[in-house]
Amino acid sequence: MSKKSLLFCASEVYPFVKTGGLADVAHSLPRALQEDYKVQVVMPLYACIDKEKFNIRTLEKKFSISMNQIDYPIELYGCTYEGIEYLFIYSTLLCEREFLYGTPNHGYQDNPVRFAIFNHAIVELLRQEQYDIAHLNDWQSALIPLLIDQDKTIATKTLFTIHNLAYQGVFDYEAFHSIGINPRYFNSDAIEFYGKVNFMKAGVAYADAVTTVSPSYAKEILTAEFGYALDGFLRHHKKKLTGILNGIDTEHFAPSSDKLIEFPFTTLTQKAANKKSYLKEIGLKGIKKPLFVFIGRFTAQKGVDLLIDVLPKLALQECNVAILGEGKEEYQTKIQEIVSDYPNVHCVFTYNEALSHKMYASADFLLMPSIFEPCGLAQMIAMNYAALPIVHKVGGLKDSVHNYKRFNKESTNSYGIVFEKATPTSFVRAIKQALELYETKKDFNLLVKHNMLCDFSWKQSAKQYIKLYKQL
Ligand code: ADP
Repeated sequence: MSKKSLLFCASEVYPFVKTGGLADVAHSLPRALQEDYKVQVVMPLYACIDKEKFNIRTLEKKFSISMNQIDYPIELYGCTYEGIEYLFIYSTLLCEREFLYGTPNHGYQDNPVRFAIFNHAIVELLRQEQYDIAHLNDWQSALIPLLIDQDKTIATKTLFTIHNLAYQGVFDYEAFHSIGINPRYFNSDAIEFYGKVNFMKAGVAYADAVTTVSPSYAKEILTAEFGYALDGFLRHHKKKLTGILNGIDTEHFAPSSDKLIEFPFTTLTQKAANKKSYLKEIGLKGIKKPLFVFIGRFTAQKGVDLLIDVLPKLALQECNVAILGEGKEEYQTKIQEIVSDYPNVHCVFTYNEALSHKMYASADFLLMPSIFEPCGLAQMIAMNYAALPIVHKVGGLKDSVHNYKRFNKESTNSYGIVFEKATPTSFVRAIKQALELYETKKDFNLLVKHNMLCDFSWKQSAKQYIKLYKQL
């Protein structure tokens, strides 16, 4: 029997472009599905994508889509990279920008039109190629189920994944006149949201199934605290909502063969060589002291306020701290001030994949005090690289990091230091536990070695997605 066809749609895919975890998922999940489905991945051909490096070629396929009497020319590009077939949508308006979605402080004004183009172009592909399933991700591809409903000729089934409910693609009512959607959909059961347009709502309303990236987050988004005003609507569609924990690409994040780190490792002694070299490189002293790292976007979600609050207290301990991230300027300024006051705190304000690998390979602890966390990948990468995560018990962190106090060496669970409340007191207590644990090296080593043997791959999650696809 021939495999069913699946079109995986995402606004960012590693290694072409990446601003966050979605790119990692869009890179790894299609690979894990390939055995069971004929998978193609489709994304925008942003100007920053290196066409030469990835051998991206025009497919000599041009068409135009029409939205509210305006025609937008589209050109289709493609490449095969590491065995996966990628399709790229090129439209000047969508692609010719410095950033993907906007500057660090503001989304681009015309994002509704830009991403409506992306959605309409994909629907045209579905019309032409008759895929069995379209897997959509976040607001940037959330109009597709509605457009299929509007079209009536497309039989493709849809699964829509919410990676982060904080970003819903909400735009002023005026945007509705330029995104090619029939006015009958401007109602509260569909795309209307307090008088505005909400792309994500369209996905939730019309997709055949909705998933989010961890079982705990699937429950949390049904509450007012984490629901970003969409909790009522999600409760209404609760029956089609499932939480499936993300995995990580265990080939890319493989400590034993990682080309981005100096000393690939399988033992803690080998790992120590990475720490020694990294500390030297950044001018910090004390290989024997625990090294705490933070790697992530500087946003409120990631608990950066908590980090800034607690950092001076942490810096007074016998330890080193290294931070890698970028985002809100206000956060950068505050962190920079702390760095100037404490010689054992180091920070780099940029996005640097290679450096992040070095840091995972060198760290003893990863700080992850997220206020909310749909899934989180950093904690899994850390555990795979023998760094113990210190996490707030929320969302995917709750599902993937089990409290070290209940360590069971027979279990397949992975462990870390888990704190209950997103408060400085709770976080500081967790850091104290970390310092104590590090003193009793034997227990610490037992935990990190156990984590290194855990399965963080996509295997289990892919099985759950396949089960869902079959039910569509
Ligand atoms: P989110 O998707 O919310 O940003 P995740 O933990 O799911 O958070 O995924 C973040 C991914 O991006 C991880 O692979 C992490 O290592 C990486 N990352 C985050 N910030 C940086 C940075 N400044 N430089 C390099 N990698 C980063």
